[in-house]
Amino acid sequence: MAHDDKSLIVMKFGGTSVGSAERMENVASLIKEHSRQAGVVVVVSAMGGVTDMLIRAATEASRGNREAWRDVRQELARRHREAADKTLSPAEQALVLPRLAEQMINFENLCSGFSLVREVTPRAMDTLSSLGEVMSATLLAAILRSMGCPAEAVDATEVIVTDEKFGNASPLFEESVEKTTSRLLPLVERGQIPVVTGFRGATRDGLCTTLGRGGSDYSATLVGAALKADEIWIWTDVDGVMTADPRLVPNAQIIPEISYQEAIELSFFGAKVLHPKTIQPVVKRGIPVWIKNTFNPSCAGTKIVPSCTRNGRPGLKAVTSVSKTQLITLSGRNTLTFAHLAAKAFDALGLEGVETLMVTQSSADNVLCFAVHQADLARVKAHLEQVFELELLHDQRASIEIMPHVAIVVAIGENMKGTPGIAGRAFSALGRKGINIIAIAQGASEISISFAVKASEVKDAVQAIHEEFQL
Ligand code: ADP
Ligand code: ASP
Ligand code: MG
Repeated sequence: MAHDDKSLIVMKFGGTSVGSAERMENVASLIKEHSRQAGVVVVVSAMGGVTDMLIRAATEASRGNREAWRDVRQELARRHREAADKTLSPAEQALVLPRLAEQMINFENLCSGFSLVREVTPRAMDTLSSLGEVMSATLLAAILRSMGCPAEAVDATEVIVTDEKFGNASPLFEESVEKTTSRLLPLVERGQIPVVTGFRGATRDGLCTTLGRGGSDYSATLVGAALKADEIWIWTDVDGVMTADPRLVPNAQIIPEISYQEAIELSFFGAKVLHPKTIQPVVKRGIPVWIKNTFNPSCAGTKIVPSCTRNGRPGLKAVTSVSKTQLITLSGRNTLTFAHLAAKAFDALGLEGVETLMVTQSSADNVLCFAVHQADLARVKAHLEQVFELELLHDQRASIEIMPHVAIVVAIGENMKGTPGIAGRAFSALGRKGINIIAIAQGASEISISFAVKASEVKDAVQAIHEEFQL
């Protein structure tokens, strides 16, 4: 939406980009520069490492380990205080230091409570784990003001309305649109820069929730879609979306343009550069999402668009992987038809809200195999044992088997549709490296092919596919 015929850009900054006083100043300069040409709304993550520290403190507190959370308190206070000392004018310091101190008191009260009751509920964890965003937004807004840019920190609990699934809440879009526009647009219209806390939201009753780890990307597209922004820029610590995770494949290349669907697949299958739900809010309006590097701002980055026109080259675009997964193999044998076996299993998974990463079947034998995140395994197994109790009792050949230490490698590309031989080449490439494929799945949409391999071979497998297709 244009404001005084200026375009509106929502810019999100990740943890590394605001990890220190120097990084925060660098980010503030970028915002200042771009706010000359466009209306800018900022969404910010906690300083790098802070969310992990908060979660660790809560866990230690719930075990009664007072010393551990007190250490975290010291470290949090030191890092934010140092950033404030180095970057803020005396007037801004006078304003901001009491606010940061207030957050430290919140931290202390919450951790004391967890220590006393020896428990931390998901609801209380959300309030604590997202305090880092409250502190970083307070600081960044003050740095901008110190640089002469009118800015105001906004707590996302005022604008993003969610359901009550603490720890991984889903936004209620219509209500969020209403609150976001009525809170943020007047600021933008007055020429101010709202600096919104990423990651957090609130239920209709005002209880703090979070959108899942890495959720600030999602906050940015929610705010962007609500405000009908012209573009959303996700600033991070790499030059864009790359052909593979640069930590696994050092010569991974930047992809100049990818489609929404490719980005959705990539993020679902482990590419940490985007939260898996990031693209959802922008699909309806087709808002372009850019991935850019705060360490290298002159690099154009990656543009994520509704569908790709450029780079119509057939074949793969990227390869990604999900580690820490386990394969579950259900054998119904004589007791159930395959359809019954699958229906019962997926009903159970659905009720538990478990995500499956790949599914294969062997129906002659009534065998269903699927991969789940390791973190979900215990409850999936317990639930399946309960659901299939009778079958397991009456049919000695029926079984639930678990294969641990598995990784899923996924090759992605919209242009793979109708290109013969891709699966074959991938098989051969893995075979040449002596990597055994445990299971394979390719959907009819042909946008991705998934291979389950041993967790210890994931890096070699990703590299082999990257090399074979010269990504
Ligand atoms: P931020 O704190 O900015 O949100 P993240 O650490 O969440 O940043 O995401 C960026 C990281 O994602 C990169 O540093 C990189 O290691 C990792 N990553 C994994 N897969 C990819 C990929 N295909 N392209 C780019 N980065 C990737
Ligand atoms: N700070 C949160 C996290 O570390 C959210 C984010 O960085 O996107 O998960
Ligand atoms: Mg992230």
